[in-house]
Amino acid sequence: MAKPMSLLAVRCPVCKLDAVSTPTCRRCKADLQLLLQVETQRRHAQWQTLQALRQADAAQADYAAEKADLMHGDRQTLRLRALTALLKRQFALAVALHAMHATAASGDANKP
Ligand SMILES: [Zn+2]
Repeated sequence: MAKPMSLLAVRCPVCKLDAVSTPTCRRCKADLQLLLQVETQRRHAQWQTLQALRQADAAQADYAAEKADLMHGDRQTLRLRALTALLKRQFALAVALHAMHATAASGDANKP
């Protein structure tokens, strides 16, 4: 199965420029190599979570989802953790994670 491809980009922590995909920020010239490496590893962990969910491997899905969430938690990692909780039949945790995902989604909608 092919790995999902999407543009790897991060937000510069120095000047807050969004969608930087080069090792150096084009605005402030900050070194973003380590940040891009972490984002690469996070996406790999997300991909591993999806693969484990497809194979109904709850332990591997849980491990990979937690790993991705610890590297940089966002709506997507919350959703993956909720799906993993469903697979593990931890329904209360799945509902709580889904509520956090929904709250994060509404917060994104309120951003200017
Ligand atoms: Zn910058």
